[in-house]
Amino acid sequence: MTPPNSPTRTSRMTSDQKPDIDLSFEFFPPKSEVAEARFWTSLEKLVPLGPRFVSVTYGAGGSTRERTLRMVSRITAETGIDAAAHLTCVGASRGEVDDVVRGFYDAGVRRIVAIRGDPVAGIGEKFIPHADGYANAGELVAGIKKIGNFDISVAAYPERHPESADWAEEIDNLKRKRDAGAARAITQMFFDNSDFWRFMERVEKSGLNMPIVPGIQPIHNFTRISSFAKSCGASIPEWLADRFDGLEDDATTHALVAASLAAEQVSELLDGGVRQFHFFTMNDATQALALARVLGASSE
Ligand code: FAD
Repeated sequence: MTPPNSPTRTSRMTSDQKPDIDLSFEFFPPKSEVAEARFWTSLEKLVPLGPRFVSVTYGAGGSTRERTLRMVSRITAETGIDAAAHLTCVGASRGEVDDVVRGFYDAGVRRIVAIRGDPVAGIGEKFIPHADGYANAGELVAGIKKIGNFDISVAAYPERHPESADWAEEIDNLKRKRDAGAARAITQMFFDNSDFWRFMERVEKSGLNMPIVPGIQPIHNFTRISSFAKSCGASIPEWLADRFDGLEDDATTHALVAASLAAEQVSELLDGGVRQFHFFTMNDATQALALARVLGASSE
């Protein structure tokens, strides 16, 4: 997979020339009835695209345990689309985490996005595992595999995880997760594709043979996304901030700028050979649906 020196405009091929695109969509468990109604409306719009799976996040410390389980169970049972439950191991014993995994299995869920979670004291603070808990995502993946033959995705970081001292540590960690049984890695959001291409080069050089799926974050609200990005170690390029400068009170232009930048990002990834995309939807299908269509996906 290489960055396109001279774009081939794969994204504008006619339908019989188009490559197969594999999509997944990430949601979070809604907190209210109104939010839940919006969740299902958004999901219904994306289901006809035939995604590989739809994932639902899991609050660190298990704060969303029941809601995540309820949503993934319903997705699996009602839409015919595979649901993937995120699972974190922060602040929980191995026994507690294993019980959650069994609960997912009993509900018919066969996919898990296995994530360590952020330190209880906050992002950037030292991570202290539960005394009887899984210490990291690699251990979590191994624990899940002992319970059932789940399809497991893990996290990867094109700009490096803030706790990794160097790239060797970062890639070694990804290898441990793959060796424990992860089928693919989904990346943290990134806004400069050159970060992704450099990361892919590192992965390929290391001999790590594992599908890496770019995590695409459409910018619904630049102020919110940029503060979230900074908190998880994803940088906001100056040119990106410039594009949104002064648009705080102009929702229409903001949405158009966001849509065109995201379309540019995914088109370039497609031209560079990427065929799998994971969209962080924030429970709103609008941008993810538009981007899927830009990539050539259409309703089945
Ligand atoms: P790990 O893979 O365990 O890595 C964390 C750090 O520890 C890395 O620096 C790694 O190098 C180091 N490390 C791990 N094992 C070892 C070892 N054996 N020796 C030395 N160093 C080691 N958070 C949520 O709370 N809920 C979610 O649903 C959620 N979903 C996410 C989905 C995606 C696609 C992504 C990219 C992130 C998600 N997160 C979620 C955020 C995640 O919790 C944080 O990024 C967290 O800080 C790290 O999780 P991880 O699974 O990457 O951790």
